[in-house]
Amino acid sequence: MIDLKDAIRSIPDYPKPGIIFRDITTLLGDARAFRRAVDELVQPWSGAKIDKIAGIEARGFILGGAVAHQLSAGFVPIRKKGKLPHKVVSIGYSLEYGIDEMEMHVDALLPHERVILVDDLIATGGTAEAAVKLMQKLGADVAAACFVIDLPDLGGARKIEALGVPVRSLIAFEGH
Ligand code: AMP
Repeated sequence: MIDLKDAIRSIPDYPKPGIIFRDITTLLGDARAFRRAVDELVQPWSGAKIDKIAGIEARGFILGGAVAHQLSAGFVPIRKKGKLPHKVVSIGYSLEYGIDEMEMHVDALLPHERVILVDDLIATGGTAEAAVKLMQKLGADVAAACFVIDLPDLGGARKIEALGVPVRSLIAFEGH
């Protein structure tokens, strides 16, 4: 059976010294690894009533789109500021240097719709935390946040669980 960890390429000192970039393009390019990752993300939810999958730009779109298709759910993009054409709700979040904003269309989720957040990786959890808060602001029921990769030493999962949202990751890498 294919090992997901082996399908991920690790690039030291990218985008800057001290960071090990976990590159999922090698996983996406490997048909068996891509299928396995999507199957594993979907597995706990088969038969569950999930209205929508929300993906975080940009790698969350690829994985989230595949998960949405598999669960017969809708797909909602969470995008960087200024990319969505209709009326949006936005939230600021801190990056390592300064702050950024992410946005969703105001009508992307209806109150009480059950949604799962998908992204490739959770590090400090700042990005996913902002995404969860944005969806909760629209009244959505965020059933879970799912990632291929967790960097548990950075404590991101705890931040999301503090918002009442269970976190699930397929694999973990030590360090950051
Ligand atoms: P964070 O907000 O710290 O949890 O960072 C998560 C976001 O940054 C995700 O969208 C990831 O794709 C990206 N990211 C953070 N750290 C890494 C890393 N070491 N390798 C690849 N992507 C990363």
